[in-house]
Amino acid sequence: MKMTPQRMAIMDYLNGNIEHPSAAEVYRAISRKFPTMSFATVYNTLRILIDRGLLVELSLDPEKKRFDANPAPHHHLICVKCKKILDVMQTFDLSLPEDDRHLFQLIGNHVDFYGICPQCGTRESTDRPGKDQQGSSTMSGAQSLSQDGAKKGPL
Ligand SMILES: [Zn+2]
Ligand SMILES: [Zn+2]
Repeated sequence: MKMTPQRMAIMDYLNGNIEHPSAAEVYRAISRKFPTMSFATVYNTLRILIDRGLLVELSLDPEKKRFDANPAPHHHLICVKCKKILDVMQTFDLSLPEDDRHLFQLIGNHVDFYGICPQCGTRESTDRPGKDQQGSSTMSGAQSLSQDGAKKGPL
């Protein structure tokens, strides 16, 4: 693979990246450095990296393809609310009964765990106190508005 500065930038961005970005996210990050780089160039580079086994395409998110910069076999933990994908490096001793194997020669497996991440969970559990705070701040806003109106009156 020819090492153009653009490709270097894309590989740099993906190196150690645990966010499982989509092609659009990679493009957004790279175009800050290379504003002239097209989405097609980014996408083609991602495809080349996949062909070379340096990048894995994930179809966990139905809305968009995501890319995994960690080519080592691992599993995933997915937040059903914000679609954040975390790596699970644990190995599981999973076996497939003969009947379900259909004479396949097994080469691997992938387990998805689903849940609600701390950020999304906190958002929900602190929803009520948050609303109260918002309510009081709206009231003080209204008060300052009426004060402004009162000030304007005499002027
Ligand atoms: Zn979340
Ligand atoms: Zn991963």
